[in-house]
Amino acid sequence: VFDVLKRISDNEWEVPVGFKPGMNVPGRIFVSESLLNMLEMETLGQVANVATLPGIQKYSMAMPDAHLGYGFSIGGVAAFDKETGIISPGGVGFDINCGVRLIRSNLSEQDVRPKLSELLDDLFKAIPTGVGSKSRLRVTDAELEDIFVHGVQWAVENGYGVEADIAHCESKGQMPGADPSKVSAKARKRGRPQIGTLGSGNHFLEVQYIDKIYDEEAAAAMGLKEGQVTFMVHCGSRGAGHQICTDHLQILTSASKKYNISLPDRQLACAPAQSQEAQDYFKAMVCAANYAWVNRHVIMHWAREIFESHFANDFCDLGLDLVYDVAHNIAKLEEHKIDGKNTEVYVHRKGATRAFPPGHPDLPEDYLDLGQPVLIPGSMGTPSYVLCSTKDSMEISFGSACHGAGRVMSRKHAKKELRGEDIRDELSSRGIQVRATQPSLIAEEAPAVYKSSSEVVDVVHDLGIARKVARLLPMGVIKG
Ligand code: 5GP
Ligand code: MN
Ligand code: MN
Repeated sequence: VFDVLKRISDNEWEVPVGFKPGMNVPGRIFVSESLLNMLEMETLGQVANVATLPGIQKYSMAMPDAHLGYGFSIGGVAAFDKETGIISPGGVGFDINCGVRLIRSNLSEQDVRPKLSELLDDLFKAIPTGVGSKSRLRVTDAELEDIFVHGVQWAVENGYGVEADIAHCESKGQMPGADPSKVSAKARKRGRPQIGTLGSGNHFLEVQYIDKIYDEEAAAAMGLKEGQVTFMVHCGSRGAGHQICTDHLQILTSASKKYNISLPDRQLACAPAQSQEAQDYFKAMVCAANYAWVNRHVIMHWAREIFESHFANDFCDLGLDLVYDVAHNIAKLEEHKIDGKNTEVYVHRKGATRAFPPGHPDLPEDYLDLGQPVLIPGSMGTPSYVLCSTKDSMEISFGSACHGAGRVMSRKHAKKELRGEDIRDELSSRGIQVRATQPSLIAEEAPAVYKSSSEVVDVVHDLGIARKVARLLPMGVIKG
């Protein structure tokens, strides 16, 4: 099936321009040979479809965790010229600024084990989970606008998190260019009661411990060491982001026709980057991105409170510092060197993590020499990874890495094949406790539905996009 692909190196495969009519650039798939065998033909098709869009630069890329998505594959990265290119909501995804953050601690695995069960019960109580779950935090319309524009700055000013957290969020948790007037009443209505909620399915809060350090120096710079407990939060912009994507997809579907952009798939709806329609979407997308950063910030704050209620008596400082927060569903205007020239491009990362190299001006001061931390969740039964970006990441992948292990089994298939209760028992026998609203959800999110996180991360490491720093094993997970 994959005869059409040209092997560039051990972990790089080219989808040639002739693969589909109208491709402006080749596709570039970053996978090992064994991961290539897990790739669906349709995903390759999606990579090729994206290559037909106007103003695309270098190549249409797919990360090693790539699988089928809406229009663009999940794990897809594409950069479009600021003047001649396009902006497309499908290249960002419905969960705008879905992302991951990692919080360290001064606790060891042994400190936490005896109290793990109560800790998870309390986290599960404090942090609303599930599809339509609502928050105990109620914001007014004015506050919501403030959140859309100021992101994490709002959170810290209102007592959620501390000043030091801000620098450790991508874009300081406050992407510029938001315009709340581009956000519909419906999106606001959905967003207002959901700040500080995890949402459903794939989203989680996981208590973990570090079982392996690959790079002592980098780990020390991030405050990480073997045996230490961390927790990870994965969620996005909830109903607000979903509605913003839905609203603007409709507008951009007509705009694609208006601007005569021929689309191989209508899910690729887009408009010229500088058009009113594309810019309106982008301004609304920024609102959702800032909302998502606040969402993760509030969840982190509540989780810190729970940790403190369990351990503060025994420790003078729990050291619950934010290591880093990265978006993995977002479009950004960035400068990249293309054919030796500095060029402004709208980089779409959809199920892909930014990975900026050492010295990049967007990095916080304390990570400037290190490179941007990259956080790769695995599954509730397999390792997650912390990496740091290396100098070649810009050249290889517009400063982008994978965002997870990537799904191999559909939710529907998983529900048929697996029983949630069995998975829960099996994980429990391995010392991993799961709290979820219903057992079927555990089946849909079972470790077996995902590729091997270790294999996926090795591709990114071997390519020289980001190097491995630490491996995290799950102790307990709360799930929507
Ligand atoms: P997505 O953003 O595409 O929904 O998910 C990102 C990645 O999170 C998935 O590809 C998967 O590898 C990872 N993941 C899903 N559920 C869990 C979990 O419960 N724990 C951890 N550590 N990772 C998970
Ligand atoms: Mn999400
Ligand atoms: Mn996600």
